[in-house]
Amino acid sequence: MENKIPYKIYLEENEMPQAWYNLRADMKNKPAPLVNPGTGQPMTAADLAPVFCDELIAQELDETTPYIEIPQEIRDFYKMYRPSPLVRAYCLEEKLGTPAKIYYKFEGNNTSGSHKLNSAIAQAYYAKKQGLKGVTTETGAGQWGTALSMACSYFDLDCKVYMVKVSYEQKPFRREVMRTYGASVTPSPSMETQVGQKILAEHPGTTGSLGCAISEAVEVATTNEGYRYVLGSVLNQVLLHQSVIGLETKAALDKYGIKPDMIIGCAGGGSNLGGLIAPFMGEKLRGEADYQIIAVEPASCPSFTRGVFAYDFCDTGMICPLAKMYTLGSGFIPAPNHAGGLRFHGMSTTLSQLYHDGFMEARAVPQTEVFAAAEQFARVEGILPAPESSHAIKVAIDEALKCKETGEEKTIVFGLTGTGYFDMVAYEKYHDGKMDDYIPTDEELQASFAKLPKVE
Ligand SMILES: *Cc1c(COP(=O)(O)O)cnc(C)c1O
Repeated sequence: MENKIPYKIYLEENEMPQAWYNLRADMKNKPAPLVNPGTGQPMTAADLAPVFCDELIAQELDETTPYIEIPQEIRDFYKMYRPSPLVRAYCLEEKLGTPAKIYYKFEGNNTSGSHKLNSAIAQAYYAKKQGLKGVTTETGAGQWGTALSMACSYFDLDCKVYMVKVSYEQKPFRREVMRTYGASVTPSPSMETQVGQKILAEHPGTTGSLGCAISEAVEVATTNEGYRYVLGSVLNQVLLHQSVIGLETKAALDKYGIKPDMIIGCAGGGSNLGGLIAPFMGEKLRGEADYQIIAVEPASCPSFTRGVFAYDFCDTGMICPLAKMYTLGSGFIPAPNHAGGLRFHGMSTTLSQLYHDGFMEARAVPQTEVFAAAEQFARVEGILPAPESSHAIKVAIDEALKCKETGEEKTIVFGLTGTGYFDMVAYEKYHDGKMDDYIPTDEELQASFAKLPKVE
């Protein structure tokens, strides 16, 4: 029986999902609405219209429709790089000597190198359909900017990317990939926007953060005719598009009658994790099945494990709507030596509510241990993982080793969100022993929490 499960479980084209799954439809406690910081009232579609594309606003606000059809044009694009494989990590299991069965869903098989393309193509499609000239966005580690550049060039849309300065400098090759696809790339904070000028005046020499870059991209979208802002994570619409990951995973597992005990994913803004767990969490919410679900975050930016559940700005410039989420405070800027993504101060409102209600757990892991796990994985499974993805690897390995002690044959599924080819500066630091584990102190976090907006 065991031998029947191949190293890679692929789906046929006709087994690919035809609709995204909207997890919120099955939640009793819905995520709290986005709030207008000026009025304290929930954001309406009209409030959001100057910033976001109309159809994406409808998806953002829809908490009742469980399945939303994936337009044919998007499904055709998905077919170029999907379905992504669900891999049985036989080699890793053997190396660890664990009775656990480990599977990972690999989203790095496209030029952007991560799952972000799943939402980028959807967002570009709806922008094009609305007749817009272009879109603006931020990018942290560069994966989202790359994915969006690819999607925009496919639909012939202009793409302006504000890239967190530390990544802009550390990852010149990512920048060039974006320019290859026709995007313009500006290091953030920049002097091009009012909010960038203000942030630079307050924090001279700052290496930037996702929160700063979001503020700049939103300002540019709202002050240029025919432009809207698009975001690669955090929002409900992004989790919706990423549900394609979980739906494929579930279909592949169902093909072989496999039921996971545990589902593990890294969490930056929560989109890959929200997408991976969507159909499983749906079963859990409807009382049809139970799964242990674990979010893994960096100890340097620990929104779930050390943040507070409160309304906060999604951006440093405090121009975006307020979201009720686990947050470290919108003024929190993670240590610049922290490698790659997962640097966002907040978390998806949907995952925040689910975590708050006890449907999932979270762990924070220090970055040197993450790189040790990444290297161990690369050496046996071949794939060179992104540092973000490696957070999930680290906890999957930890759990597999626990099974070794207890003799439990648990089935572990984790999300391998991308490849790390553009992260070799971080790998170099790790190899040279120059990487450390900066962990914010309670005092630093308290100081940040003290600046949270007051919302009832
Ligand atoms: C962006 C990114 C993440 C984190 O973002 P989420 O929205 O939390 O999924 C994780 N892994 C990779 C490879 C990424 O590019």
